[in-house]
Amino acid sequence: MKEPLYDVIIVGGGSTGLFLGALLVQAGFSCKVLEQRQHSTTHSRSIGIHPPALERLAKIGVAEQIRSRGVPVQGGVAFLNKRRVGKLTFSACPPPFPFIVSLPQCETESILASRLIELDPSALSRGMQVIRMNESPDEVGVVCLGGDQEINYRAKFVVGCDGMHSVIRKMTGILFTGGDYADSYLMGDFQDSTAFGPDAAIYLGRFGVVECFPLPGGLRRWVVKTDTLLDLPDASALCSLIDQRTGLKVDETTCSMISAFKVSHFTANTMSKGRIVLAGDSAHVVSPIGGQGMNLGWLDAFALFEVFEVVLKEGSSHSDQLFSTYSDRRLKAAAKARRRSELNMWLGRDSKVGFLQNGMIRLILSPIFQKSFARQFTMRGLE
Ligand SMILES: Cc1cc2nc3c(=O)[nH]c(=O)nc-3n(C[C@H](O)[C@H](O)[C@H](O)COP(=O)(O)OP(=O)(O)OC[C@H]3O[C@@H](n4cnc5c(N)ncnc54)[C@H](O)[C@@H]3O)c2cc1C
Repeated sequence: MKEPLYDVIIVGGGSTGLFLGALLVQAGFSCKVLEQRQHSTTHSRSIGIHPPALERLAKIGVAEQIRSRGVPVQGGVAFLNKRRVGKLTFSACPPPFPFIVSLPQCETESILASRLIELDPSALSRGMQVIRMNESPDEVGVVCLGGDQEINYRAKFVVGCDGMHSVIRKMTGILFTGGDYADSYLMGDFQDSTAFGPDAAIYLGRFGVVECFPLPGGLRRWVVKTDTLLDLPDASALCSLIDQRTGLKVDETTCSMISAFKVSHFTANTMSKGRIVLAGDSAHVVSPIGGQGMNLGWLDAFALFEVFEVVLKEGSSHSDQLFSTYSDRRLKAAAKARRRSELNMWLGRDSKVGFLQNGMIRLILSPIFQKSFARQFTMRGLE
């Protein structure tokens, strides 16, 4: 017996794939999300959920749950060489989300997975690693390894939401170019002993940036720029760097996550080819400094959903053109996000020409430019 023909198969049940799956299923399309992991990740990784993404997450009814389980960050306090120089507030950002929600990625993904399963209990198949794909004029065949068995699926379209090392992108022959930045960071989650409350804080100056963000459960995420990538990241090293650069004492024994990372940028030369489309990190990777990657993936997913609404309802006579417009638009947004993350990284470097960074910080905090920089920091203009 021939397998059923899905409207869309999504490869990868991370933040991008789960959201796209829920949008499609809610709109009545037949959709299967294939995820290679048996269980969802427990790493807190990405934490910042920006207003444009919240507006779109509200369409599947999860924005309120995300807001109430997370911490709405109202703004950020800035310090230059340990001296407080001002605060960037998001309060002038338009309602209903004049804030960035801070919630660990594993919790966000669990909310998205629950919503998808609630909409269609069979839409998410875990333990399914896609290993092959073949495209014909009318459909795409997908072969998965599920345990030690090969399982076949068919769909009108396949979306690769399978992250930076996307096999869908590789199988389709789409190029992915970019490289590593010189910057490296140390990051950890600890009990919050600061007085910042729901605000973020950023310390700039001679020794490289220290950033911290509130997390639910009385925790705080710390990110510190390091001279080199630390092979064996440890809480004690992170706490001494924080102390040295900010004067704040963080209790290393309360560390619940520690990680050292380098940052890179990569971009696909196109996000669509025939019946295969890409969304999220499979198409573009930007530096996590500025916290935009997961949000970009959601904005891709929503834009792609709007294309599918036309293509799947009205037939696919001009689908190539619609997917190509989607690709151009989303690659432009990713390029803009990359430039913003590069500005963030530059501000946080221990530069010999610190007066330039100091000038930029004062510009960002000045009443004239606050609103426009608040827009940038909350990812407006990337839709
Ligand atoms: C330290 C750090 C901090 C970050 N902080 C932020 C932040 O604050 N805000 C923000 O917006 N972004 C942040 N990011 C970026 C964010 O984590 C990513 O952009 C986001 O996870 C991308 O989601 P995705 O679903 O596109 O890809 P992924 O999260 O990589 O998910 C891809 C999924 O596909 C599955 N998969 C892969 N291959 C296959 C296959 N062959 N078959 C089936 N399944 C497959 C994988 O198992 C995975 O579940 C951060 C990143 C890092 C590293």
